[in-house]
Amino acid sequence: MVDKVLKVAVIGAGLAGCEAALQLAKRNIQVDLYEMRPEKTTGAHATENLAEFVCSNSLGSNDVTNASGLLKKEMSMMGSFLIEIAKSVALPAGNALAIDRNLFSKKVEELILNNEKINLIRQELKKIPENIPVIVASGPLTSDDLADDIKAFTGSEHLHFFDAIAPIVEKDSIDFEKAFYASRYDKGEASYINCPMNKQEYEKFYEILINAPRIEQKDFEKGAKFFESCLPIEVLASRGVDTLRFGPMKPVGLVDKRTGVENYAVVQLRQDNKSATMYNLVGFQTNLKWGSQKELLHSIPGLENANILRYGVMHRNTFINSPAVLDATLQCRKRRDLFFAGQITGTEGYTESIASGLLAGINMAKFLTNEKLLELPKVSMLGALTHYISDFEQKHFQPINSNWGIVEELLVDKKIRKNKKLKNEMLSKRSIEWFENNLI
Ligand SMILES: Cc1cc2nc3c(=O)[nH]c(=O)nc-3n(C[C@H](O)[C@H](O)[C@H](O)COP(=O)(O)OP(=O)(O)OC[C@H]3O[C@@H](n4cnc5c(N)ncnc54)[C@H](O)[C@@H]3O)c2cc1C
Repeated sequence: MVDKVLKVAVIGAGLAGCEAALQLAKRNIQVDLYEMRPEKTTGAHATENLAEFVCSNSLGSNDVTNASGLLKKEMSMMGSFLIEIAKSVALPAGNALAIDRNLFSKKVEELILNNEKINLIRQELKKIPENIPVIVASGPLTSDDLADDIKAFTGSEHLHFFDAIAPIVEKDSIDFEKAFYASRYDKGEASYINCPMNKQEYEKFYEILINAPRIEQKDFEKGAKFFESCLPIEVLASRGVDTLRFGPMKPVGLVDKRTGVENYAVVQLRQDNKSATMYNLVGFQTNLKWGSQKELLHSIPGLENANILRYGVMHRNTFINSPAVLDATLQCRKRRDLFFAGQITGTEGYTESIASGLLAGINMAKFLTNEKLLELPKVSMLGALTHYISDFEQKHFQPINSNWGIVEELLVDKKIRKNKKLKNEMLSKRSIEWFENNLI
């Protein structure tokens, strides 16, 4: 008897879709991987690369006692392809895993194209196919036609909120008489470039910022909700004159060794490519008009003559109402051979998107081979995320990043729970032990 050929369609060759396709192929399942770029683009993607990082180039902390660090550790233990590739193209960024985005995409593409089980099809899918098992990983900027079909299928309202992209400048145009290298509290390599401000300089910067014109929103964007951890800098500034000094421009722990001074405010820049010629402004995602962005950036000490390689922009973000649609396995309740993965599920962020692609790929393979699906427990960060998006019981579901608040509470006395460092170490150890005992 000839074995039945198992085949899956994956929609979207972004972070989640590429990870899911590779997981399926590893388990001997054929994949048709659909990607609409370059034929049709999203407005945020700048290239035709697979698994493109659209904004910052950081996957967050590497420290396993940090929520994002633990998630990456779990993903490594589960055999994530993209996390291994990210590590192989890492750039100096203190404790964080920052990557060269072009090299990353190149390596992902090589792996996909050289995999005989994966058939990459450069085409927009306007509807969820009905005659084949499907993983929808079309991302926060899913094409309109497909979004309409998903909406019709799920029967739930799509929610929109907005993310914004930070500008990138050329390193050689930065004035290092003023700017200095340092990592906060001297942790890891001193790889960030810091532009210091005194009170007067900060006040001037703030004035320009709050008076700067923004790009007018289209009708469907009016009344937009922002994702709290990716707020445009002008929105943060509108909350009060000091909000930025306690947020992305906080100066604590950043001392210029030449002067020994801790400044009134600091703008940090993070390396954006392997050759360290490009740096992005940390936390400076913005929707200001480009002329205003130029004026604002040039008012920052050290960036007076900065060559701006990419301006910030703001974009729509689409996600399904996962609590009504998905199980914690990422399987669709209404149609069992349909899974969702990536940001469209509400697992917000690069690392989280790859993580849900990883789980969806594994679980689709299990589904097709009649194995029990993997439902991760809430002691793990990925389990906590997938339970959060599927079990959420309140009215207004919003996407979520990895964070300690969603994991199962530790059964220890209050004194230990109040010691944040010890508590995070214990939470992290508990999850790693679970993976060691159950998956490895
Ligand atoms: C503007 C913006 C900035 C962001 N910045 C950050 C950040 O700095 N840090 C962070 O951690 N997260 C960020 N995110 C959130 C999120 O981590 C990224 O969007 C991430 O790429 C999501 O991964 P994904 O695989 O779900 O989607 P994507 O990586 O976007 O992949 C989806 C793919 O599907 C394709 N596609 C869409 N519709 C179709 C269709 N109908 N047929 C075929 N192909 C289709 C798209 O072209 C795309 O390649 C940002 C999101 C946006 C929108």
